Amino acid sequence: MPRLLSPDDACVRVKIPVGDLEATYKGRVIDVDSPSHIKMLRDEGYVLADVSGGSSRASGYRCPKCAFRGFFKVCGRCGGACEKE
Ligand SMILES: [Zn+2]
Repeated sequence: MPRLLSPDDACVRVKIPVGDLEATYKGRVIDVDSPSHIKMLRDEGYVLADVSGGSSRASGYRCPKCAFRGFFKVCGRCGGACEKE
């Protein structure tokens, strides 16, 4: 299942119309199995996580306090402000 990453800390919830209904995805990292949803989410700025574990790290953030690496500006370990790598 493809995994998508939120482009911004503020974007932790997104709604996708599905016919007459809508699907709501929550969180900074979401798993999406619908190709049409993935396309819409990418239009919103979401990016596909690199599940192979290669290049994605180079475009992430690094915490200067605890050296934790992540995809977001706020450190997932200590909550510090991360710097772009
Ligand atoms: Zn940290």
